[in-house]
Amino acid sequence: MSTETIDKDNLLRGGQFLVKETNCDDIFTLEDLNEEQKMMRESTKEFVDRELWAHWERFEKKDYAYTEETMRKAGELGLLSVAVPESYGGMGMGFVSTMLVCDYISGATGSFSTAFGAHTGIGTMPITLYGTEEQKQKYVPKLASGEWFGAYCLTEPGAGSDANSGKTKAVLSEDGKYYSITGQKMWISNAGFCNLFIVFARIEDDKNITGFIVENDPSNGITLGDEEKKLGIHSSSTRQVFFNETKVPAENMLSERGNGFKIAMNALNVGRIKLAAACLEAQRRIIGEATKYANERIQFKTPIISFGAIKAKIADMTTNAYVDESACYRAAKNIEDRIAIREAEGNTHQEAELKGVEEYAIECSILKVAVSEHVQHTTDEGIQIFGGMGFSADTPMESAWRDARISRIYEGTNEINRMLAVGMLVKKAMKGHVDLLGPATAVGEELMGIPSFDTPDFSELFAEEKDLIKRLKKVFLMVAGSAVQKFGPQLDEHQQLLMAASDILIQVYLAESTILRTEKNAKRFGEESQSTQIAMSKLYLYRATDIVIQKGKEAIVSFAEGDEQRMMLMGLKRFTKYTNNPNVVALRTQIANKVASDNGYTFD
Ligand SMILES: Cc1cc2nc3c(=O)[nH]c(=O)nc-3n(C[C@H](O)[C@H](O)[C@H](O)COP(=O)(O)OP(=O)(O)OC[C@H]3O[C@@H](n4cnc5c(N)ncnc54)[C@H](O)[C@@H]3O)c2cc1C
Repeated sequence: MSTETIDKDNLLRGGQFLVKETNCDDIFTLEDLNEEQKMMRESTKEFVDRELWAHWERFEKKDYAYTEETMRKAGELGLLSVAVPESYGGMGMGFVSTMLVCDYISGATGSFSTAFGAHTGIGTMPITLYGTEEQKQKYVPKLASGEWFGAYCLTEPGAGSDANSGKTKAVLSEDGKYYSITGQKMWISNAGFCNLFIVFARIEDDKNITGFIVENDPSNGITLGDEEKKLGIHSSSTRQVFFNETKVPAENMLSERGNGFKIAMNALNVGRIKLAAACLEAQRRIIGEATKYANERIQFKTPIISFGAIKAKIADMTTNAYVDESACYRAAKNIEDRIAIREAEGNTHQEAELKGVEEYAIECSILKVAVSEHVQHTTDEGIQIFGGMGFSADTPMESAWRDARISRIYEGTNEINRMLAVGMLVKKAMKGHVDLLGPATAVGEELMGIPSFDTPDFSELFAEEKDLIKRLKKVFLMVAGSAVQKFGPQLDEHQQLLMAASDILIQVYLAESTILRTEKNAKRFGEESQSTQIAMSKLYLYRATDIVIQKGKEAIVSFAEGDEQRMMLMGLKRFTKYTNNPNVVALRTQIANKVASDNGYTFD
């Protein structure tokens, strides 16, 4: 890809959104898709309607064979190879296109989207990112075409969130030709039909685990547990995998000895942002189904969509989906651009991709948490709008609700990702990659000073909202800055404080991404055409500000006392104040009326 159009100076580093202002022209939005990407989206949607949505009942009835069959069809259409470089049989498309396919292919059933994500993401990426040339030539083309399927074996009964604590052992043979792997892996997606496993095991008493590519051959000491009985994603194959002195050629080690934890974590960074994308189309489809139902369902001689209580739900669900799209595609393009810059600087595609995604690990964690929680909320409200019918397994709401639940657990639980987001930001600040200290000191000085009593000019579109976002960033800097000063390296032990800080960070990123998307579109397509998007941007910011107030207060009173506490609480009030409060009831009504008249979500 050409780097001519990338504004290197204005391309944010990961986490820098917090301390640097972004111009709306510098963010990528779904409205910026090129013709090729739009065609890709259409063919993905067609595939989903034909092969998945039309058969969602089969996915509910634990038809594992159907999941495998549809995965194979996706392979035939090239949908498994979007992210794979052309030299290994893939389409070699950019990160945005990869996200796009992941997004639109994942809306019909969590069973397929889990199989798709486990194969194309964590099942294939460790080889494309860390494999040797021989490993890539041998395995990647088969995985890209869907001739072979991959699975990722990290979790063990005693090693879940603490992923580096696994007990699976890899012992080198005396002649140095192979490793013998013995251990038990748990919750392995695609285990029932995969051809290869990415396995993490410990050599001797190494501090860190090591990654291996292991072909699935039952005659080589590999056995599977029964299919797990799960709350949702019923047709996603999830089994235990037992390795009993499984012989793996020494050349199948991934990267170097002891590098497995790094591989596992970097594969998860990519997995996290893609999981966020995989929770978008489900939201759009739920909104569509819920709106159709609410338009048709009559109670008290009135379509239920006319009731304010239902409108509020439709408006919030729609707003969340719009917000999530805005943040996901903003981050995706940042990653794509960073990869392109690194390639132009002489890095191989492999190195560039690794570093590009690693750079935005904070955003990947933010998105994983936020979007997985939004899809859960949307499916829950979807059931509520359907009333009793929502509780029935005959409507898609019930399975969507159950399928959505897993997204808060896998690819690192939301608790772990919340702590990671803040932890990584603090680390970046310490390394000097993001200057938090300067802005945090400035906020401290501002708190001591006299506030300005000037009446600002908020006449331009989003002038007040952008000013508010700047101030919400100050809340994070105030809270996190003081907490770091107070606790230093012991900050890790104050998890409730980290969670609160993380929630502020998440809200800032989401609200800012949404305002910038709408501002960009209002500038080029006219404000009139964006009136609902403007309403959604304002509504979300109002809700985000409420969360910042609540979490900010909780954090401040947990560690500050007396005058310091009073000063910080006053700062919180000042930084979260609206000059003109938006009428959120009117905003919700406007949004819901548009969705009702379009009979679904029409903002992508
Ligand atoms: C359907 C399904 C498919 C899966 N697919 C795969 C797969 O393909 N490959 C694979 O390797 N794994 C897979 N997993 C495993 C998944 O990644 C783990 O379940 C997840 O990482 C959590 O680990 P755990 O279940 O052991 O929970 P635990 O780590 O025991 O966590 C339990 C609770 O404690 C919290 N917690 C844990 N540690 C901390 C801490 N330090 N601070 C605060 N809170 C903490 C967690 O957030 C969670 O709420 C899958 C799981 C499921 C259910």
